[in-house]
Amino acid sequence: MTDIQTLVQNQKTMFRAGKTMTYTYRIHQLQKLQEMLNRYEPRIYESLHKDLNKSSYEVLTTEFGFLQQEINYTIKHLREWMQPKKVKTPTTHKGAKSLIYKQPYGVTLIISPWNYPLHLAIAPLIGAIAAGNTAIIKPSELTPYTSELIKEMITETFEEKYITVVQGDKEVSQELLEQPLDFIFFTGSVNVGKIIMEKASQQLIPVTLELGGKSPCIVDKDAKLEYAARRITWGKFVNAGQTCVAPDYLLVHRDIKQPLIDHLKKEIEKMYSEDPMQSGDFSKIVNDAHFDRLVSYLDQGKIVYGGKSDRTNRQINPTLVDNVDWTSKMMHDEIFGPILPILTYENLEEIHDHIEHSRNPLALYFFSENEKKQEWAIKNISFGGGCINDTIMHLGNNQLPFGGIGTSGIGKYHGKYSFDAFTHEKSVLKQTTSFDLAFRYPNSKVGRKILKKLFK
Ligand code: NAD
Repeated sequence: MTDIQTLVQNQKTMFRAGKTMTYTYRIHQLQKLQEMLNRYEPRIYESLHKDLNKSSYEVLTTEFGFLQQEINYTIKHLREWMQPKKVKTPTTHKGAKSLIYKQPYGVTLIISPWNYPLHLAIAPLIGAIAAGNTAIIKPSELTPYTSELIKEMITETFEEKYITVVQGDKEVSQELLEQPLDFIFFTGSVNVGKIIMEKASQQLIPVTLELGGKSPCIVDKDAKLEYAARRITWGKFVNAGQTCVAPDYLLVHRDIKQPLIDHLKKEIEKMYSEDPMQSGDFSKIVNDAHFDRLVSYLDQGKIVYGGKSDRTNRQINPTLVDNVDWTSKMMHDEIFGPILPILTYENLEEIHDHIEHSRNPLALYFFSENEKKQEWAIKNISFGGGCINDTIMHLGNNQLPFGGIGTSGIGKYHGKYSFDAFTHEKSVLKQTTSFDLAFRYPNSKVGRKILKKLFK
């Protein structure tokens, strides 16, 4: 047996023993996870800085703080979520009770990407623990400091047969996918998502796929431009644009393009200074390949702001690009960097085809004061989730399920939805033995008459 096969077998044995199922065990493990994060807080900041030059403020808001909130919320509500849910029973089933039991899947695999390497490995783990599963985490090989830290923290805190980290690239990932897993939670690119689903289908393993795509940001002519510019600047350039729900491109009503660009320039300078890469606090691009890909976009339009890049430190300053063609490479790929193309429209209807062209975006942002137009965008465009008059903030409300649709993913999580993602809802009918209604049996004399009445 390979090491990975042994690991999965050991987790299977652990799960079957039933230890992970009890409320007390789950709560204790969530508390251990929380203590682990607190204990390692300074090293978390350090490793994210080394991997991505993330500022401490960004680590606090988008990684560390997010996880703390998720754990607190889960601890508070777990008992209530675990209870079997009693549901109505129809008259045809008189005497019986109907219940939905919350059943953990068993051995789960969490595969995570590099852009929020701590957040995206640990947030699903909270759901896995809460729901009573064991878990194997495969973090990204592109953020070695944070992935190594995740391994160290998890190894110190949990038994290997309960939660463990397997480091490596796609070969390791593929070996894990060959195992008799019970559930797979994948966050990453659309292309790899397809591979994961294909692999999972061979064993009919259920999956959640949290993928990406091109998320449009539409600014209509009646939008409050100062707020729009500020919120777009923040959402686009946090983590240097390496955010799955970052506004990928701007679709601006023709009449307000120039004033919006002027506001954006002001907001970028207020938030990040005139030369963010000199400030030492602006995230860097994860590797040379992504850096080169992003720089190649810079001549696909007219740079109206920014454009400075530094290959040694893998940094690109916030950049606004005008006169971009829909057929350019930049408008085909998910940008995933601090470059914001600006396209214009005249009528809202005309944007529909363009957005549909890039298939179901993970997020959509619509800035307008007009409620009718807001509702039009919400109802007529397919997207995973989004905001009206803001960017990214929907992700921070754990009452809202987070996930994609179609090409941007399958399934959802955050808050209670994370518990649900890692839970099988097992339907059980508890029948009475005090009596036995005969009308359902084929030899019943009155059966047909009663059933016809009941089915009406
Ligand atoms: P990726 O798909 O390249 O890699 C994700 C994970 O899959 C990594 O752990 C990697 O080792 C593994 N992997 C890569 N190739 C594989 C293969 N052939 N078989 C099995 N496993 C493989 O994604 P990435 O570059 O790390 O992350 C960026 C992408 O993730 C973007 O598309 C972004 O939109 C998306 N993303 C989505 C969310 C979300 O919540 N929906 C969050 C963050 C990132």
